[in-house]
Amino acid sequence: MSAAVLAPGATIGILGGGQLGRMTALAAARLGYRCHVFATEHDSPTEQVCGAATVAEYDDADALDRFAAAVDIATFEFENIPAEAVRRVAAAKPVLPRPEILEITHDRLREKDFLRSIDVATTAYREISDVSALARAMRDFGFPAVLKSVRMGYDGKGQVTLTPETKAEEAWRQMGGEIGILEAFVDFACEISVIVARVRNGAWATYPPVENQHSHHILDTTIAPARIASEVATRAEGIARHVAERLDLVGVLAVEMFVRPEGEVLVNELAPRPHNSGHWTIDACVTSQFEQLVRALCGLPLGSVEHHSDAVMQNLLGHDVEKWREALADPFAKLHLYGKREIQPGRKMGHITRLIPHR
Ligand code: AMP
Repeated sequence: MSAAVLAPGATIGILGGGQLGRMTALAAARLGYRCHVFATEHDSPTEQVCGAATVAEYDDADALDRFAAAVDIATFEFENIPAEAVRRVAAAKPVLPRPEILEITHDRLREKDFLRSIDVATTAYREISDVSALARAMRDFGFPAVLKSVRMGYDGKGQVTLTPETKAEEAWRQMGGEIGILEAFVDFACEISVIVARVRNGAWATYPPVENQHSHHILDTTIAPARIASEVATRAEGIARHVAERLDLVGVLAVEMFVRPEGEVLVNELAPRPHNSGHWTIDACVTSQFEQLVRALCGLPLGSVEHHSDAVMQNLLGHDVEKWREALADPFAKLHLYGKREIQPGRKMGHITRLIPHR
């Protein structure tokens, strides 16, 4: 279904109840929109700041229909929502970004094939459907290499780094998926991401590339803007714009990239939603990534992506959240907590953005 311009007062449906939904709902509320979340658990980070919630499993057709009936437009904050659930909602109400984009980014192999089809450089990769194919590919690719499950992959889940000592059977078991993708290891100088927002009339805006430092495959720190040459930054923004245009994106898309020591940029992953590496935009930019999503959903013009401060965003993973009091001692630190009751190792509990204002 196509979407009309939605005036404040309309209800935005959010599939997924995590912190990205929470921050989207907060941005929506500022513009006078209501949100209704669909989540599998009660008291989710999104539900805590939303006026309405449907709590059910993603295969509960009646619940999905009730949710669709209650909203004017829907989006998703988590890309592993089953495609059938998104399609069911999309049959009743507009869903943006369009669900076909989610179906590409759900699957690492489709995603890389898509990137190749639009002439975007990635690392060398191959589909792996069984152990013997893996053993052959390990001989062809050399080491190190990275085996990933094609589905349900985020924050390094379903990922195994292969070395000359690795046994193919063992790696296949550890990966735990039915189909895998083997990637040549990228010896990168740094990892960056670009967030691009695009609205229905094709207008777009890119935030400057930011530098992402991971710990155990989970984002730990984002430095905004990235400490890279300006021509590399321009190239990275151009790639993000190209991908958004070829996907016919309406919404927000994060493009994760590797920068090689000589400046070559390779795309690693796409996420058609607000992204952890864009949290700094809440405090340091004229318009946050979350507000851009709300504007794109509702048919409003984009806001400025200009930043008035540089920033360093630090995730509060697991017990790091206990440092919240220390964080507040720095007057330029902006603390964001996600309302999650249960602390688990590596769980994203909140983040701190330290601002370095341009004077
Ligand atoms: P992903 O789930 O694909 O985003 O991977 C998580 C992290 O693992 C990335 O941010 C990189 O730090 C690392 N990684 C993934 N794929 C590769 C690769 N082909 N070469 C080097 N590092 C990788």
